[in-house]
Amino acid sequence: MAIILQNAAILTVDAANRYLPAADLRIEDAKIAGIGAARSLAQPGDEIIDCSEALVAPGFVNTHTHAATAHFRGRAEDMPREFWEQGYLVPGQEKFTPEDQVISVKAAAGEFLLNGVTCIADRLKGMERIGPALEESGIRAVLGETISDARAPADWRVTEMLLERFGTKPSSRITAGIAPHALDTCSDELLKQCRRIAGHKGALECLERTGLASPLLVAAHAIYLSDDEFDALPETGLNIAHCPASNLKIEARTLPLHKLIGKMPIGLGTDWTASNNSMDLALEARLAALIGKMVADDPTKLGVTEMIRMLTIDGARALGLDSEIGSIEAGKRADLVVIDKARLEMTPDFDAAANLIYAFNPRCVRDVFVDGARLVANGKLTRADEAELARAQRRLV
Ligand SMILES: [Zn+2]
Repeated sequence: MAIILQNAAILTVDAANRYLPAADLRIEDAKIAGIGAARSLAQPGDEIIDCSEALVAPGFVNTHTHAATAHFRGRAEDMPREFWEQGYLVPGQEKFTPEDQVISVKAAAGEFLLNGVTCIADRLKGMERIGPALEESGIRAVLGETISDARAPADWRVTEMLLERFGTKPSSRITAGIAPHALDTCSDELLKQCRRIAGHKGALECLERTGLASPLLVAAHAIYLSDDEFDALPETGLNIAHCPASNLKIEARTLPLHKLIGKMPIGLGTDWTASNNSMDLALEARLAALIGKMVADDPTKLGVTEMIRMLTIDGARALGLDSEIGSIEAGKRADLVVIDKARLEMTPDFDAAANLIYAFNPRCVRDVFVDGARLVANGKLTRADEAELARAQRRLV
């Protein structure tokens, strides 16, 4: 049975950035089967969802996060930079068990979906437990077991298991990658091994998401580069996961986004709750634009259209998934967020894209689809109970 989003305003984020003020969108077999004139696509037996008071946008793509750390929210506030350099030792984390991690993953997946995030690139140790929990939630995810020198053999075992179980095909809802941690925790030899294994797997998509060759690397943060290095960065062709809130909150730094945008794929990331503490990716887009304008010393930089693309298709491109998600086009996976235009934040409706970047609040999210499955309906999770997820999180403290 098909689902029809009927009479919707649609922010396509296609190559021409078309905005359709009134259209139908047909969802069939997990994909966007068609887009047509308002009230033109419904057939007998279809499920019709009235969207005459809704804006439909591509689901938001979070290019860097750690879902299982949801229980660290509020545990390390206003710390000096040295605190984070000493191993991210957030107080209390030593007592959290693998089972607790799964509780946090479920809560994080629910929160992301309620915020309109349909895809996350998730990195942490413990993916053998985290991966299946994310798979069950219905969200789209690119999984990477964090690999570092400290326990490389065990990290590799999990990585191999993920690659075996989930594969690297972009059309799969859950895919695996190779996720070396950072330059100060991975030896050159380990990084070379990451590249060798990725090559051995014949997994170009895998390299594109987490690899090490310059155009194939997704670099999280990238805030500690010199001016010359920033100038040279676009030529490398690598991808960046820009995490403005995390960078500002724990490092009091950011990157010169205006120098990079449009020259290389840049997605947005929430990073983890100890350093953010929000999972609201649209807020990251707003921060990236506002701080970016200040750094550029130019309010014309980082325009609304560029930020909408960063929130959706550019994030998908950074993860190597833009052939499948990130825009609303026939043939793509039906990863969609339906935003309630009756909310005051979305009113008046002179510029729907600007409302989404500068006025939107997650409470405006009405429905969320991933692979055509309705995971949020009328502001409520369909596969989990928000209150129960919250209670389970609170019991961890
Ligand atoms: Zn991170």
